[in-house]
Amino acid sequence: MSTPLQQNLLNMNLAVIQAYFEGLGEKAFRGRQVFKWIHQHGFCDFAEMTDISKELRSQLTQQACIKAPEIALQEISDDGTYKWLLRLADGNSIETVFIPEDDRGTLCISSQAGCVLNCTFCATARQGFNRNLEVHEIIGQLYVANQVLRKLTDNQREKNTRIITNVVMMGMGEPLLNFDNVNQAMDIMQDDLGYGLSKRRVTLSTSGVIPKIDKLKETNPVSLAVSLHAPNDKLRDQLVPLNKKYPIKDLMNACKRYVAGEPRRRVTMEYVMLKGINDNEKHARQLIKILSGVPAKVNLIPFNSFDGSGFERSGMDSINNFREILMQAGIVTVTRKTRGDDINAACGQLAGSIVDRTQRSKSCTPEAVNQS
Ligand code: SAH
Repeated sequence: MSTPLQQNLLNMNLAVIQAYFEGLGEKAFRGRQVFKWIHQHGFCDFAEMTDISKELRSQLTQQACIKAPEIALQEISDDGTYKWLLRLADGNSIETVFIPEDDRGTLCISSQAGCVLNCTFCATARQGFNRNLEVHEIIGQLYVANQVLRKLTDNQREKNTRIITNVVMMGMGEPLLNFDNVNQAMDIMQDDLGYGLSKRRVTLSTSGVIPKIDKLKETNPVSLAVSLHAPNDKLRDQLVPLNKKYPIKDLMNACKRYVAGEPRRRVTMEYVMLKGINDNEKHARQLIKILSGVPAKVNLIPFNSFDGSGFERSGMDSINNFREILMQAGIVTVTRKTRGDDINAACGQLAGSIVDRTQRSKSCTPEAVNQS
């Protein structure tokens, strides 16, 4: 355990850690050195940071720490997907998923303990909401996953592949309702002295918190994915209740603004395929209409079930038919491969375990965002 007076350096992006070292009377570049040890080498023990003087190392041991969430459980799917249940210091737990593919490795990161948004088809919503994650708890997921994956022997891992090549903010929670912490963590992911991921390789998925989409464009325009899931407001109000506040037309305009001025950029529209709910030809044609003029591609997600969800996955025929209609209208459409569902690691199956699920922090309810 860290003592209350110890600063957790995992909370600090490069600018903050440099200022911290200056505050100790050191040069800013000491901060850069330590930042590299933490994020590039995965070290958590100051004693091992050999280019730092002994005196400074022992001062750091007193005053600072590098503490990531602890792994409570690791599960590995038949398809090679990893899921970690991570325990936070306050007893909450969250889930992080690693999805290896031939040409990339994607880490799916959580941004909140639980979620306030109540999407009717999502397991995380059933958990209730406790709180926003701190920066160290968000970047800590990448830090911990890297440490585990690095330790795999060459037999378990293809030689010469970078292990985590992409990050998606698609785990538990709504990342735009924890804007500042998510943003700082994404800084560290993208920093050349950190994980060096380009903005193309970091994707943030949102249910559509419009003011924060605009703010993200100003601060850190990473790849954007939007959980659309329905082609008209009546249906979307039911599936993604945030739609009552930020309806489809306004959301599509926000997406246009997000990619304006960058002709090759597209917003990914996520569309969960729910049998008999949103998956017929009429829905496909409505979707084509609302996407008209929006630089978008569509990701069809076969619904992943969980106990008591009340929904069913669309049949493969309906999914293929839906995709075909969109493709014929010139919309790039891919069906997302379901990964890790045997260990409940697939989209919408993440649950963790939330202490006091009645918490509703004022700072991150949709109502509060509307006033900001
Ligand atoms: N709150 C953010 C981040 C969650 S991302 C957002 O809404 O975008 C997780 C993605 O999986 C979202 O598109 C979400 O709508 C989708 N999803 C949720 N439950 C699902 C389920 N049971 N099956 C398939 N996809 C689901």
